[in-house]
Amino acid sequence: MTALRSGSGRAFIGPEVLVTRMPILRFEAADTTERTQIGEGLVRFAVKAGRLETGREEGRYFLQHADGCGVDGERIRPGDPFAFDTDTGEILCVGHAAERAASQRPTAN
Ligand SMILES: [Zn+2]
Repeated sequence: MTALRSGSGRAFIGPEVLVTRMPILRFEAADTTERTQIGEGLVRFAVKAGRLETGREEGRYFLQHADGCGVDGERIRPGDPFAFDTDTGEILCVGHAAERAASQRPTAN
């Protein structure tokens, strides 16, 4: 973990900083079809995407993905890996996440 130093005791982190430092596609394993527990690093992206759920007994932060894959609507089953696109806020099944990752990769010769 990287400790962010703050001389005045206040930490101000602009969203741009995190966007450039984090990969756009975040892979997680689904807890249930409806939601998956996430760490604090993803909370701001979940908020931005309108997918954050809190106040549950079994955890602090959850990402809602009951709408399934943003491309084909495929529902994410418990235990399935899926990707959260922190740029667009979409949920993607593994197949479409791989497609998107490939399209984002710089072209190789
Ligand atoms: Zn899909």
